Amino acid sequence: MSPLPEGVSPLLINGEVRHTDAAFPSVNPATEQVVGWASDASAADMDQAIAAARTAFDTTGWATDHALRVRCVRQLHAALQRHREELRELTIDEVGAPRSLTRMAQLDMPIDDLAWVADHAENYAWDRDMGESTSMGIRSFRRIHREPIGVVGAITPWNFPHQLNLAKIGAGLAAGNTVVLKPAPDSPLCATALIGLITDETDLPPGVVNIVTGTDHELGAILSRDPRVDMVSFTGSTATGRSVMREASDSLKRVFLELGGKSACIVLDDIGEGLPLACMYTAVAVLTHAGQGCALTTRLIVPRDRYQEAVALVAETMAANPPGDPHDRRTFCGPIISERQRDRVEGYLRLALTEGGDFATGGGRPDRDKGFWIEPTVITGLSNEARTAREEIFGPVLVVIPHDGDDDAVRIANDSPYGLSGAVHGGDVPRARAVAARLRTGTVSVNGGIWFGPDMPFGGYKSSGLGREMGTLGFEEYLETKSVGEAL
Ligand code: NAD
Repeated sequence: MSPLPEGVSPLLINGEVRHTDAAFPSVNPATEQVVGWASDASAADMDQAIAAARTAFDTTGWATDHALRVRCVRQLHAALQRHREELRELTIDEVGAPRSLTRMAQLDMPIDDLAWVADHAENYAWDRDMGESTSMGIRSFRRIHREPIGVVGAITPWNFPHQLNLAKIGAGLAAGNTVVLKPAPDSPLCATALIGLITDETDLPPGVVNIVTGTDHELGAILSRDPRVDMVSFTGSTATGRSVMREASDSLKRVFLELGGKSACIVLDDIGEGLPLACMYTAVAVLTHAGQGCALTTRLIVPRDRYQEAVALVAETMAANPPGDPHDRRTFCGPIISERQRDRVEGYLRLALTEGGDFATGGGRPDRDKGFWIEPTVITGLSNEARTAREEIFGPVLVVIPHDGDDDAVRIANDSPYGLSGAVHGGDVPRARAVAARLRTGTVSVNGGIWFGPDMPFGGYKSSGLGREMGTLGFEEYLETKSVGEAL
């Protein structure tokens, strides 16, 4: 066996920082250079992490010590703030996240949102007084008590690693659970960067947070299946979400799923002179992190008589923002995470042509020696029946589809296996609001409004998932409910 490279990031199991005898590289998608190496955990490592989380939950005061939990989440928040700038450079290198996006959901927002979670846990009403009642002849005082669910297995993707790792760890811990985090093999270092902060800068007891990196997706399957795990909190593709749910079914654990999307932006026919702004919003959404976001609006549904105009407007904005160096503060569209994902996106571009579509802009790779890149692409000439219009591409690719009025637009938007997000733009706000209300999606923006925030639940209808992350609802995903009756 060849010796391991220097500086391999460790696992965190039962408060111990430990290495395995295998390692894997994390590759910068903009340069193809190795950013660093991560420990490649085995099934035995995962077994120990689950055992540690179980013991910490069952045998320590963590689950009942509300003040300790709040303090630890605040300490983690403070540590992340102290290390924010190192994390920023790491995130740009490992994920190809443009610097501008690290000021938002790629780093600063998830760090700041931990403060909200700590405050929320501190002020949460763990007990609800239900008053007295007589039932079956017995007078009782009743209350509803909320308590942590137990051991949480958190499985996350690579596209917004801090947002997803911290949303799950933050709410999971603040609610009193213990956690095993299994990050994606494409972004291990954003997760292991937490290890030193947890061990050196917080009072988190051993076993309360465990971090297990590895290349084998089976690690996630073990976490989903193991009966010692009470809940699996998963974010990733719909196909993997189905597998997680199947694996979890024998032990009947709670399953929380945040999955894929193919969200629609509807422009109503009263948009008038607002069309350029509506198109700009949509083009920017699709450029965001090179389209590698689950909730981006990747279908633009426009009035038939404004179709050509809308295509020209989105194509102009997208062509004016070619993918660039993610370290450059002017870059908005970075690289695609890996060669495999780049090839997958290119497969969809070929499919679009086979299905009869055309490119109004893009459609290929930009001319760069290194890295994984796709030109921002606008596809025209396809109906919503086309696979390109139905399947999640996860690249900077927009499909523009014409509609014949509000009912038709709503029909097209809802004709999707997914239901994660959506947007409506119109001249008359009540009318736009009424159309938004008809969308079968977990989030929706009206005239460019922002639904994303620490106090706002996020999640999907249909094949986009089960449950909600963030906000009070997201916090309560990590809680059990105990109804108590005391005889008077
Ligand atoms: P993925 O489903 O391939 O992997 C996600 C995670 O699941 C990784 O950690 C992976 O190792 C693990 N995994 C893989 N196979 C597994 C199995 N059989 N059992 C358990 N775990 C397994 O997704 P990805 O390619 O990393 O991320 C992209 C996908 O994530 C897209 O579909 C995107 O829409 C989705 N996503 C959804 C949200 C949301 O909140 N709805 C947010 C971000 C990304």
